Amino acid sequence: MLYLKTGLNVCRCCFTEKSLWRRGLSTTENLSRTNLAHQKILSHIPHAQKGAVFLSQFLYCPAAFIRRGGVRGLFGGGRGNIRQQTLEDIAENIRERKFKRIVVMAGAGISTPSGIPDFRSPGSGLYDNLQQYNLPYAEAIFEINYFHHNPNPFFALAKELYPGNYQPNLTHYFIRLLHDKGQLLRMYTQNIDGLERMAGIPPKMLVEAHGTFATATCTVCRRDYKGEELRNDIMEGTIPKCPTCKGIIKPDIVFFGEELPQQFFTYLTDFPIADLLIVMGTSLEVEPFASLAGAMRGSVSRLLINRDLVGPFAWGSQRHNDVAELGDVVSGVKKLVELLGWKQELEALMNVGGDKTSVNNQEE
Ligand SMILES: [Zn+2]
Repeated sequence: MLYLKTGLNVCRCCFTEKSLWRRGLSTTENLSRTNLAHQKILSHIPHAQKGAVFLSQFLYCPAAFIRRGGVRGLFGGGRGNIRQQTLEDIAENIRERKFKRIVVMAGAGISTPSGIPDFRSPGSGLYDNLQQYNLPYAEAIFEINYFHHNPNPFFALAKELYPGNYQPNLTHYFIRLLHDKGQLLRMYTQNIDGLERMAGIPPKMLVEAHGTFATATCTVCRRDYKGEELRNDIMEGTIPKCPTCKGIIKPDIVFFGEELPQQFFTYLTDFPIADLLIVMGTSLEVEPFASLAGAMRGSVSRLLINRDLVGPFAWGSQRHNDVAELGDVVSGVKKLVELLGWKQELEALMNVGGDKTSVNNQEE
C-alpha cells in the first residue's frame, strides 16, 4: 500500500522528490523504493539520454502506469479511429478560446532569431572569445566551483547577454499576445537573455528555469540586488562587489550544482490544469526541463514548433493530439499566427515594442 501511496510523488517524476531531498526538505527514508531505483539508474546515464529514460519510470511505478492508461496510453493503440490533430485544429481551438490555459516551453531556438550567439558551439564568435580565458571546457563557465576560482569568463558572457543588448523577436511577442488575450498559463524558458521580459511578459507569468540577469545575489552575505545595480560594473568589465561585505555579486543565473529557482516547482500546479502545451526552439536535452514535456496529461494537446522532432515527440509514441510543425521556428510561429488571424495584432504589438524597462520590474 505504501508503494501505491508514494507512487504519485514518485512519478511526477523522480526529479521532484530528488530536488526536495537535495534541499533537505525530505529524507532518504521518505524517498520511496521506486524513486531510489530511478536515481540509481539515472545516475549511470549521461545527461543527454535521460529523457529517454523517462518512460522507464513506468516499469517501477504501477500507479503511474495505470494513470497513464496502461499499455494503451503508452502506445496510443485501442483508441479506434481518432483523427490525428493538425496545426489548423490547434489554431481553431486557440482562436475559439477552447485553449485558455496554455503552457509554453521554450529554449535557445527562440532567441537565435534575435541574434543571441550560441555560446556553447565552437566556431561561434562568443565561444571563441571565451577561449582567451582558458576555460577547461565550455560548460565550466556555468560551474559554481569554477566561478569561485575565476569569475571573469562568466562576467564576459554576462556583458554580452546583459538585458538591453538584444531585442525580442516575433516568437516572444506571440507569447506576449497569448498573455494579453488571457490564454497564457505560464511560460517556462531555458533562456537567460531576458527577452521574454523585454517583450512585456510579466515576470509572474514566467518560469526562468535557468535563472535571470534581472536579479543578483551576493555570493558571501546573500544580500539581494537588482540586475540594474550591476549594469555599470558589468559593462565596464569590473567584477561587481557587495558594498556590505566585499563579496562577489553573482547574477541569479542557475549554475550546474545550484538549486533550481523555487518558481520552477509551479509546474506541479500548472501542468495538471493546462489545456495546451506549446514546445518551441528547444532540443529538450537538459534535465529536468526536458522531462516536463512528458509530464503533461495524455488528454492535453501538444504542439511542437521546432527544427527537429525532440523529447516525447521523437520517441515513436506520438499521440493523436500531438502536432509537430518542423522547420524554422519563426516561420512556424508565423504560420500559426496567420491561421489564428492574429497577424495585424502581432505586428501592432511588435511596433509598440514590449516594456523596455521591464528588466527593472521585480514583481513576483
Ligand atoms: Zn555581501
